[in-house]
Amino acid sequence: MSVVKKIFSVLLVIILTIVGLWQLSGSRNYQIVGELISRVNTHERLIALTFDDGPTKKHTDSVLAMLAEHDVPATFFVTGKEVDIFPDEARKILAAGHQLGNHSWSHPRMVLKSPAFIAEEIEKTDAALRAIGYQENILFRPPYGKKLFVLPWYLQKTGRTSVTWDIEPETWPDVAKSAQTIAEHVIENAKPGSIILLHVMYDSREESRKALPSIINGLKEQGYTFVTVSDLIENRTQ
Ligand SMILES: [Zn+2]
Repeated sequence: MSVVKKIFSVLLVIILTIVGLWQLSGSRNYQIVGELISRVNTHERLIALTFDDGPTKKHTDSVLAMLAEHDVPATFFVTGKEVDIFPDEARKILAAGHQLGNHSWSHPRMVLKSPAFIAEEIEKTDAALRAIGYQENILFRPPYGKKLFVLPWYLQKTGRTSVTWDIEPETWPDVAKSAQTIAEHVIENAKPGSIILLHVMYDSREESRKALPSIINGLKEQGYTFVTVSDLIENRTQ
């Protein structure tokens, strides 16, 4: 083999490895060790609404009011940093009976990070949730759904379950553009045991907030019952 061909082969292997690791890091339903849940198998028409990021002062009240109006529980994966800044908003979520989860402290991509960095991001956030009075089991959701080696290893070592999602309407611009297309996407793609991801805490997600009542009503009409992620996991069948 000529030198040029050898160099080309080595480069190709390196590129394919990087592409493979990138895809692995973003997989919604696979990680190398520990439990990762993107959806559960269930005989019942159960479904979980999950909201990432926040809490924020501006939008927590309106989101909680919508959930209360429809009598629906949800799971809020919050960042430790924002719980620390807005502890009263986090307490309101808790007082309304919803589930809280750990979405890291500062929302970094948790790949190519040291074990000490990852430990601090997770432990500090759990501590912030305990500080506002949360006593239930704390599930973890990786920022951007990203993980590779160290994060799954740390979660497994500390007995934590990682939760992603199988329905993500905001990922595609032509779906995210309006409340109607967001709601339609969720209702069309929902399955028993699905986990829906929405972002409702920032100004930029006005359409997602507006889609909430239609999503809830549409899925209820299809016979779905909303549960927290922990209740969904408890009711799974193998
Ligand atoms: Zn996030």
